[in-house]
Amino acid sequence: MTKPNTGQNNKGQKLDFIRQIVADDLKTNKWSGRVHTRFPPEPNGYLHIGHAKSICLNFGIADQFSGLCNLRFDDTNPIKEEAEYIEAIKEDVRWLGFDWADRLYYASDYFQQMYEYALQLIKAGRAYVCDLTPDQTRQYRGTLTKPGKDSPYRSRSIEENIDLFEQMKAGKFPDGSRTLRAKIDMAHPNLNMRDPVMYRILHAAHPRTADAWCIYPMYDWAHGLEDSIEEITHSICTLEFENHRPLYDWFLDQLGVFHPQQIEFARLNLSYTVMSKRKLLQLVADGLVTGWDDPRMPTICGLRRRGYSPAAIRNFCTVIGVNKFNSTVDIALLEHCLREDLNKTSPRVMAVLKPLKVIIDNYPEDKVEQLDAVNNPEDPSAGTRKVPFSKELYIEQDDFMESPPKKFYRLAPGREVRLRYAYFVTCTDVTKDSNGNITELHCTYDPATRGGDAPDGRKVKSTLHWLSAPHALKAEVRLYDHLFINENPDDAPEDKDFKSNLNPDSLQILTDCRVEPSLADTKPLGRYQFERLGYFCTDSSKDNLIFNRTVTLRDTWAKIQKKQK
Ligand code: ATP
Ligand code: MG
Repeated sequence: MTKPNTGQNNKGQKLDFIRQIVADDLKTNKWSGRVHTRFPPEPNGYLHIGHAKSICLNFGIADQFSGLCNLRFDDTNPIKEEAEYIEAIKEDVRWLGFDWADRLYYASDYFQQMYEYALQLIKAGRAYVCDLTPDQTRQYRGTLTKPGKDSPYRSRSIEENIDLFEQMKAGKFPDGSRTLRAKIDMAHPNLNMRDPVMYRILHAAHPRTADAWCIYPMYDWAHGLEDSIEEITHSICTLEFENHRPLYDWFLDQLGVFHPQQIEFARLNLSYTVMSKRKLLQLVADGLVTGWDDPRMPTICGLRRRGYSPAAIRNFCTVIGVNKFNSTVDIALLEHCLREDLNKTSPRVMAVLKPLKVIIDNYPEDKVEQLDAVNNPEDPSAGTRKVPFSKELYIEQDDFMESPPKKFYRLAPGREVRLRYAYFVTCTDVTKDSNGNITELHCTYDPATRGGDAPDGRKVKSTLHWLSAPHALKAEVRLYDHLFINENPDDAPEDKDFKSNLNPDSLQILTDCRVEPSLADTKPLGRYQFERLGYFCTDSSKDNLIFNRTVTLRDTWAKIQKKQK
């Protein structure tokens, strides 16, 4: 069923320029009413939030216009590619909420077809085997201001080219000794058109084709053919490829095959984040993070382990939109989208990160009450749960001060506060060890305030979270901050690189935390709001209660937005 094409998306917003092109093409029946996109990752690393933008765009357009989107592995470089990445990429795309159905493709499946297309170009006098070394090829290429020079091998006969290309394929020549090049124009103002290399010799086993090939196609040659073979209608890529579009078009026109439209958009850059797979791999390889799924990484698996929801990432991709101008998005916007979603969906629980023991002196020794706590004030259907209350409690060390300054409204000697869902308590005494450190507090509670309200209407200035000490579970909590201290991590001193901008305090591990007993059977990646502390996610490691802080509660982005209004 084709959805009505109103020039607007389903929220009534104006279409972005790519969706506008797709909508116009549907109107003019340019592709016989078809919309077919693809997401074409190279399996040389894990996907990151930048890829999510491309995934949401390609799969999102297919969904919106009742089209199809392929998942295609662009596996033309056997040296850097690994099967591990392929599985991880599939998992990440699925987790983001997209489905390629039975359309999972590999560029390597087209190697034979590409080879035949190359022969076709040779036979048409449009490609030649060149014996220049890589260095010489570069020298002959010229510069932006200087035209290139013809290769001395450019005028080889068609027969000789066919023969040499077949020998290249048969493994007769060493790596780097020859290339197949398109015969276009060495004086072309666009350097990509100066007889670009189509094939290189590389005696390397490929994860999928093993030793079948020792010539491998270059990106510009391969990519358009992959799109063409799959009859993609809109080939969406990032702006760096704008200069490659004439070549994309040239190859397909020379071959006279199905010719998709290449459309470029601005890639996502995020502040405090590096996005290149090469750099992310370096962080992993150098042990600067614990792996691709380290919760500080901008990878999809890192964000997942950190506690991001797929909906938060998809919303972020909608909010940033699609355009033609490179810019850097403030990471606070990503966190804003995250909080918006987690606020709606996360059950509230109580946890104490730095426990301080509190004894309620007037509470009976062995009594335990089960008090009602609201699971999610944003979602009444989430209901309530029971939390145990007893004579010995924990509160947060930070919620008590012996000599509080003026604006500190939390617990202090002689002061009354509310324990959430429980009672009003008043601090009566402070116990210290021989070094003068506070070891526990003594309080009294007012039994009339059960549930957290005083029948006489008296007010307290603050409400604290707490746990019943004998019921609380011991847990480890990992607090994360931005991985880089510099907004632009690539902005490093001349003799250093982006790694010199790593934030030494990006991870703080608290090993002596407590959480409420309802978390005893939390599942890996369970997402919660720890009341007053932030959003947390159960780590994916199994044996321990380990929680990753996803994001704090405070939303600086929302504040910025308010101010601007
Ligand atoms: P990187 O620069 O991180 O290595 P890449 O472009 O080499 O990325 P690919 O696997 O080739 O990685 O990317 C697959 C698709 O994702 C491409 O269509 C590419 O344009 C898109 N993509 C990659 N990075 C971004 C980004 N930061 N923003 C938007 N799209 C991106
Ligand atoms: Mg790429």
